Amino acid sequence: MNYAKIRFNDIANGEGVRVSLFVSGCNFHCPGCFNFEQQNFDYGDPYTEKETAMILQELQKPEVSGLSLLGGDPLWQTHTDIETLVNLTKSVHEIGKNVWLWTGYKWEDVFRMKPTTRSEQLRIIWARKLLKEVDICVDGLFKEELSNRFLVWRGSENQRIIDVPATLQAGEVVLYTKVRR
Ligand code: SF4
Repeated sequence: MNYAKIRFNDIANGEGVRVSLFVSGCNFHCPGCFNFEQQNFDYGDPYTEKETAMILQELQKPEVSGLSLLGGDPLWQTHTDIETLVNLTKSVHEIGKNVWLWTGYKWEDVFRMKPTTRSEQLRIIWARKLLKEVDICVDGLFKEELSNRFLVWRGSENQRIIDVPATLQAGEVVLYTKVRR
């Protein structure tokens, strides 16, 4: 997996001061995508254990609230790379911080999709694991016709800010209610 950038002291992507990891690669190709060059899976640098150590070290700082996983799209990575993100998420939780994730997939679609090839099946199995592991998921494609620059943490009206633990408990999507309007 390649990544485009790691941003420290990020206050634009999620609540509080965050570390944001922008992974490379997305096959949705939304018109008007704000990260066009990051749709390319080869963009940026290889993600290694060095980056994991750097992220976890930064997250030890008391003023840092958590990790944000963006892209590209974290769910379009190979299953082994998504497994890396699952392990990273678990490590972030172990130090008491939260994880937000952005994906072009709609939450329900990830759980009802029936991939036909083995590699796709593995990718979706790990995508589901990652979604269940994070605290907040901002889901859905960016839609130019629904774009609204006044929205917080999302670009278009169709995208939702999902409270993952509440959603898993309820068995249906529960929106995050502490969102600043
Ligand atoms: S899902 Fe996000 S990164 Fe992927 S093409 Fe759409 S806007 Fe760009």
